[in-house]
Amino acid sequence: CGIVGVLGSHEVAPLILESLKRLEYRGYDSAGIATVSSGQLGRRRAVGKLVNLSDLLVHDPLAGHSGIGHTRWATHGAATEGNAHPHRAGRVAVVHNGIIENFRELREELSHKGLTPQTETDTETVAMFAESLLAEGMSPEEAVRATLSRLTGAYALLFLFDGEEDLMIAARKGSPLAIGHGDGEMFVGSDAIALAPMTERITYLEEGDWAVIRRGGAEIFDAAGRRANRPEKRIHAEM
Ligand code: GLU
Repeated sequence: CGIVGVLGSHEVAPLILESLKRLEYRGYDSAGIATVSSGQLGRRRAVGKLVNLSDLLVHDPLAGHSGIGHTRWATHGAATEGNAHPHRAGRVAVVHNGIIENFRELREELSHKGLTPQTETDTETVAMFAESLLAEGMSPEEAVRATLSRLTGAYALLFLFDGEEDLMIAARKGSPLAIGHGDGEMFVGSDAIALAPMTERITYLEEGDWAVIRRGGAEIFDAAGRRANRPEKRIHAEM
């Protein structure tokens, strides 16, 4: 339901939590954050209000200067901690808004490679599929691109990778996603409102776009894989 991502210059978990709060008005049943710290993916998730996630983070902090967060409005699988995003398979963590319509088909394909889902969600299948391609030797960019080509449905997706502290990959099809530009920092949000405290410089992804984001900037590609120039806008969000 709500997506936030930060490649920052200091601890990002508190920042992501603040941004998720700005998306609370959209409604949600659970929430979670994943970060990369010293090359290692870690995550915390909690059912219910964001205060449950922030309490959890007080007792069990999540370090890292790179991270993604999500507020979930369940469509596939009950509102449990295990079904909350970010979903993880091996080196891949992902948050998702929308519905992957062919996830059962993809699961079936993955089962022939001996891969079994741990959750009831459509979203986990995306992480599993990308991880299976990393395991075949693809780079994160190649794995995401190949995964996207297999998805049907509506989605905004944001990927983070174990061992990659300067990389997020975002994709938009049927669900909005905006990139925020900082000073040596980059942000992603499902809503520019979420990014308002961090930056006023926003680039909206267009339908079918996907973006490779590093602290130095974002490279945006269209659905055909061509480099796309999307305008940077100044937004003046209140709140
Ligand atoms: N279909 C996904 C799920 O149920 C994402 C739902 C959302 O947009 O929050 O987990």
